[in-house]
Amino acid sequence: MTGDRPIYLDHAATTPTAPEVVEAMLPYLGACFGNASSRSHAYGWEAEKAVKSARSWVAKLIGARPGEIIFTSGATEANNLALKGLVRASTARCGHIIVSAVEHKAVLDSVHALEREGYTSTLVGVDSVGRVDPKDVADAITDETLICSVMLANNETGTLQPIKEIAAFCKARGVVFHCDAVQAVGKVPVDVGDLDVDLLSLSAHKMYGPKGIGALYVRNQTPKLRLEPIIHGGGHERGLRSGTLPVHQIVGFGEAASLAMRELKTGAEARRQASIRDLLWDLVSSQLSDVTINGSQEYRLPNVLNLGFSGVDAEALILALRDVAVSTGSACTSSSYEPSHVLTTMGVLREYIDGAIRISVGRTTTQMQMEHTSARIVETVEALRLF
Ligand SMILES: *Cc1c(COP(=O)(O)O)cnc(C)c1O
Repeated sequence: MTGDRPIYLDHAATTPTAPEVVEAMLPYLGACFGNASSRSHAYGWEAEKAVKSARSWVAKLIGARPGEIIFTSGATEANNLALKGLVRASTARCGHIIVSAVEHKAVLDSVHALEREGYTSTLVGVDSVGRVDPKDVADAITDETLICSVMLANNETGTLQPIKEIAAFCKARGVVFHCDAVQAVGKVPVDVGDLDVDLLSLSAHKMYGPKGIGALYVRNQTPKLRLEPIIHGGGHERGLRSGTLPVHQIVGFGEAASLAMRELKTGAEARRQASIRDLLWDLVSSQLSDVTINGSQEYRLPNVLNLGFSGVDAEALILALRDVAVSTGSACTSSSYEPSHVLTTMGVLREYIDGAIRISVGRTTTQMQMEHTSARIVETVEALRLF
């Protein structure tokens, strides 16, 4: 029923590149090879024009201006640039950083690196469904706080954070606010003006674009938001990210943004994905006992479902589900057997953490695939529980 390869239900790890994106990129891997910084000839002008168009699509997708988009190698770099760039540009010798305890490793490990440079940090916890209480952020702010970073949607559970409220508390105290919006952009409407954030990270490969390209939104405001670059060189991207622009990647990112905008306009695709996700939950929960949803069922992405099964080892379950490709939640840490820091912080019982799998659907996922997957999950969990 699925051909040779397993049914792909790991869209939170990466998405397939949209055919339109591949099509848009091809000329820039071929004849249109110019350097977007070459000012003296048509090869350069052609590349620059393509970058300009892509930049405006990416900006438009998040309600920003083109000049506020800094292209990076991905969201890992965007998160590093936001945190390291902001605190290192501060004239204060010391400084305090606030982040939520459920952030992606790219944020948490940037903070750890800054701690080794002498900065201090506070990790804000979450409730049992993974939500940050904005008041906890407000309470953590001190006179030394330079930046606060909270993600829009969690990559393991799909839980959405009250970003607008958190950003407002930060603004009132003069604290710069950064949001890792990688999982949310393209799936739910994201508007930097409405959220009132200063810095926001996004990544193309989580929204049907190519891998290796992302962006940091840097709000253009007065007084100017100062960032110290982490990569120095030719002064590309307003001096914030040197290096010859990967034109083909940027063109692909722009096309992905344009496709996402079209999709978000009606919201029909998000509703379709939410309904097949809910179908899977209904089928699994009606046939199995001791299964939970890890994460908020009220504030969440349309495409992610984190399921916890008691009495089952998630790694064994994933291996046994051979014709379905799912993961334990975080592609970046799934090679280690440490329990998820997200589920641990939420206070999920160890039994349900050890038996947690993340199912994330996408544009090409069908209802039939979800019916097949739920049947496979039910029979596999039942078999594993017999041992
Ligand atoms: C995937 C992901 C990242 C890292 O993005 P890359 O572009 O792969 O470096 C950062 N934050 C979140 C929430 C993610 O899901």
